[in-house]
Amino acid sequence: MFRSWFKMHDNCSHCNVSFQREPGFFLGSIYINYAFTALTMTGMYIPALILEWAPNNQLIWYAFAYTIIMPILLFRLARSLWLGFDQLFDPQQPQSNGNKQE
Ligand SMILES: [Zn+2]
Repeated sequence: MFRSWFKMHDNCSHCNVSFQREPGFFLGSIYINYAFTALTMTGMYIPALILEWAPNNQLIWYAFAYTIIMPILLFRLARSLWLGFDQLFDPQQPQSNGNKQE
C-alpha cells in the first residue's frame, strides 16, 4: 500500500483498486489522526497535571513533542483506516484500464 513512509502506490497491488478516490480524499485521515492525537494527549496531560507528575512547564513540552511526533507515527495507520472505511461503506471496483503490467 505504501512505497515509503509518506508516499502511497496509486493502486492496490493485489486487486488494482485505486487508492486515490478523488482529490483531497485523504483529508478524512487527517481528522482520524487529529482526533486520536488530541484525545490521547488530553487524556494524559490532565491526569499528569492533577497528579503533579512533573511541573506544568515540563508537561507542556512533553505534550508539544507528543503532538508533533504522534501524527507522523500514525500517518500510515490513519490513511489505511480511512481507506478501509471507505472501501467498506462504498466499495470500489478494480480498474481495468489496460495499464496493468504482464
Ligand atoms: Zn486490493
